[in-house]
Amino acid sequence: MQRILQPGEIEALDGISFPRIILPQPAMLFQDRAARLLQLAEGNPIADYLRFTAQLVLAQQQVCKDLPTPKPLSKTSIEQANANGMPLLSKAEALPSTWPQTLRRLVDTLIATHQQSTAEKPSALPPSLIPALQQLHAKNDEALIALAKQVLADNVGRDELATAPIVMASLQVQFAHIAAHIPEQAVPYAEPAAICPICGSAPVASVLRIGARVAGHRYLHCSLCCSEWHMVRVKCSHCESTKGISYQGIQGQEGKTDSQGKEVKDQVVLAETCDECHTYRKLVNQEKSPYAEPLADDLATLMLDLLMGETDFVRASDNPLLLIEKPLAV
Ligand SMILES: [Zn+2]
Ligand SMILES: [Zn+2]
Repeated sequence: MQRILQPGEIEALDGISFPRIILPQPAMLFQDRAARLLQLAEGNPIADYLRFTAQLVLAQQQVCKDLPTPKPLSKTSIEQANANGMPLLSKAEALPSTWPQTLRRLVDTLIATHQQSTAEKPSALPPSLIPALQQLHAKNDEALIALAKQVLADNVGRDELATAPIVMASLQVQFAHIAAHIPEQAVPYAEPAAICPICGSAPVASVLRIGARVAGHRYLHCSLCCSEWHMVRVKCSHCESTKGISYQGIQGQEGKTDSQGKEVKDQVVLAETCDECHTYRKLVNQEKSPYAEPLADDLATLMLDLLMGETDFVRASDNPLLLIEKPLAV
């Protein structure tokens, strides 16, 4: 099927070789993410939540190591996805029947770490969460899969709110593991380009990377399977418009947003706003801080979201590990 090349693809053909897709290396990814969360917790207004998330991410790292090798994708499904510009996986269908065990192992790891905590190494798990974790663990496979589908569809009720980030964390482990085993050349150019070409999820944030092959390139980081895909910086990461992109950050101590000030430009995390679709998504800049990590830095800059709440721009997509109550979809 013939198609018009997009700016990012033309750039890729221009003799400069940089990866279009960065598949996750889950054990390293979760380790780096947990370390970054702990680093960002120092002096942060939501320090307790960041430390809790770091503990959750370390549990993800433990669990991801022993998963069975996923079933390879069929040649037909790869060809169909590529011919139709569709993501490779359908989230609900790609969930393996063994996933409930992954969730229970994540819960076991969290509870064990909590029980083994000492005064020097305290647990960041809120004790009130333990009964909810035990209830989650006790659910049968069918109930857990139904819950996973709700979480994947972003349709979580109030009763499940406390444990939704735990379910999401176990789904991330599962999907990152699947994505890590996908051959890079099988990944399609999905439409719209703002969704993950592997699992179809929205990005949690975008990241300007450093490092030999990827330096200076902007990637969108999947909120579910943790894969990254390239998108040129001139485009809105939500509607792909090239008009009206600007950046806002927190200026000085006053808590004001500013789109142009130098002080703002030097910040690690900026809100990239789009005048066409009136959304914003954060851009995490490793050139300003080499250990910056999209999910961790997004979560740790909740203050920027609060300030953006006073503007006309709405957040394009959520952080999967942040607990937010939303109206139930009917
Ligand atoms: Zn994905
Ligand atoms: Zn836009």
